[in-house]
Amino acid sequence: MTSAGRFAPSPSGELHVGNLRTAILAWLFAKSTGRDFLLRVEDLDRARSGAETGQLRDLRAIGITWDADVVRQTERAALYDAAIQRLTSEGRTYECFCTRREIQEAPSAPHAPQGAYPGTCRRLSHAEREIRRASRPASIRLRSGVGGWPVEDQLHGTFEGVVDDFVLRRNDGVTAYNLAVVVDDAAQGIDQVVRGDDLLPSTPRQAYLATLLGLPVPVYAHVPLVVNHDGVRLAKRDGAVTLDDLAAVGIPAARVRGLMLESLGLPGGSLQDALAEFDPSRLPKEPWVWITPQV
Ligand SMILES: [Zn+2]
Repeated sequence: MTSAGRFAPSPSGELHVGNLRTAILAWLFAKSTGRDFLLRVEDLDRARSGAETGQLRDLRAIGITWDADVVRQTERAALYDAAIQRLTSEGRTYECFCTRREIQEAPSAPHAPQGAYPGTCRRLSHAEREIRRASRPASIRLRSGVGGWPVEDQLHGTFEGVVDDFVLRRNDGVTAYNLAVVVDDAAQGIDQVVRGDDLLPSTPRQAYLATLLGLPVPVYAHVPLVVNHDGVRLAKRDGAVTLDDLAAVGIPAARVRGLMLESLGLPGGSLQDALAEFDPSRLPKEPWVWITPQV
């Protein structure tokens, strides 16, 4: 089995400098530890036609290489089905008929953290489920046996976060992110997950799920995001933030890469040059404030 790191974009539009910088970090973490680097397109939801092609082009343009064919989540339904079936056969799932509003308005369980599923459908009788199935398709939730779960993160240390009865399959039939990620990482031999630190709070759910499925828990590193001048996570509306936008104002991909590497305290040349200097313990701990450079 390979030992690999990965970058896993959603093909919902163009990558911006925040996404590209995280891709560079994931590549550096993988290569500096002798791992392969893999790309996975997370296209279960919000996929936009043509976006994948543009994203792969932009990754190549900043020097990212990958060591196997790109994997797409829409081609992997059988793997997700098998995982859900396994959990179901072990009594670890149940059907949930709640609407988003019902969950928001339900009184939360005592000591339950905000946003955690209140467990409304956990103990429905067979007859109650029959009735509710007639009016609304069910989502599938994990019957969690814990309230929280610790993970080890290379940049954040021990992080313990909420594990509620989270959704494994949405009621429109789409496999939920938390399940797909866990199944895919294990199936692809990915044992190092480097991604934006906005995903740290959902990581305990994934590590717990991997454990239930008998899968190895990867090494995690959640890296600081890129933010705009208001300190808000960078988005398309923040001006020239994609390689296309920046090229249009006279800033080529190589210069954008240089700026991203320098923001990490690394030499702004090639990724290979940066790799020679890469030391995770010296990475900045704060978000990088993106200011569109002058030509
Ligand atoms: Zn429910």
